[in-house]
Amino acid sequence: MLIFTQIADIRRFIAQQKDQNKSIGFVPTMGALHKGHISLTETSKKNCNITVCSIFVNPTQFNDKKDLERYPRTPEKDTELLEKNGCDVLFLPSVHEMYPNGTEKELFDFGNLDKILEGHFRAGHFSGVAQVVKRLFEIVTPDKAFFGSKDYQQVMIVKALVKQMHAPIEIVACPILRETDGLAMSSRNVLLSEEERKISSVIPKLMQEAKTIILQKGIEAGKTFIENETSKQPLMKLDYFEVCHADTLQIISNLNESKNRIALIACFVGRIRLIDNLSL
Ligand code: AMP
Repeated sequence: MLIFTQIADIRRFIAQQKDQNKSIGFVPTMGALHKGHISLTETSKKNCNITVCSIFVNPTQFNDKKDLERYPRTPEKDTELLEKNGCDVLFLPSVHEMYPNGTEKELFDFGNLDKILEGHFRAGHFSGVAQVVKRLFEIVTPDKAFFGSKDYQQVMIVKALVKQMHAPIEIVACPILRETDGLAMSSRNVLLSEEERKISSVIPKLMQEAKTIILQKGIEAGKTFIENETSKQPLMKLDYFEVCHADTLQIISNLNESKNRIALIACFVGRIRLIDNLSL
């Protein structure tokens, strides 16, 4: 696996590959890699000639400084894991390499999409995501980029970004990988204490139960169920549980409003914020 830390070097490499008509698959990450990330590089390998993974903990997408400071960083382990799984290129830039003029936030307009759900609870988060993804796309110029559906709203933001950029990049949404107890894999899971980790496994179970309730009794009943169940757990604090139109993320209160529905949750367990979603 080739490792690049400089933009000029990876650009040169990508240009050489394109000269040979090689297709480029790209998996942007913030590191502390797990099987969920590897499932993305594997899908990229199946679909493209060259797979590039980037690891960059992007400061502009963190609205909470403490969250940025404690975000897990395991570059050596990550490098080994990517190498073992046949990734071709790792792009590992420094903050200065990505933001030579400082980490001033660039503003984007995604209409309602970046103001609801995650955008509402993490003000400015999606502008930061769009800023770094745009920069990475300009550097890597992939044919396809692979994102996890765990960050469902992020996938929609990235699709909107690519449209705004008029960039010929196909955004591929990949399924959520889960631990054996159902918890969605996440780099943040390692920050959970043993007790918090146990409690976290309740989240996917509550989502499944809420789905059954919603399909039988309606959205309001499902929301009440989630609010009651999470408030019973002293370590849990619910940010939101909403049912949305899966194509627009417009929040719905009646099942008749959409056939293509998704339930999304964000919940603190202790000081760690976890997200998940489920099609209804
Ligand atoms: P992150 O390093 O958390 O920014 O994630 C990098 C990419 O991996 C994003 O596209 C995520 O949606 C994706 N990802 C994170 N967790 C999972 C998971 N459990 N299953 C599938 N993809 C994931």
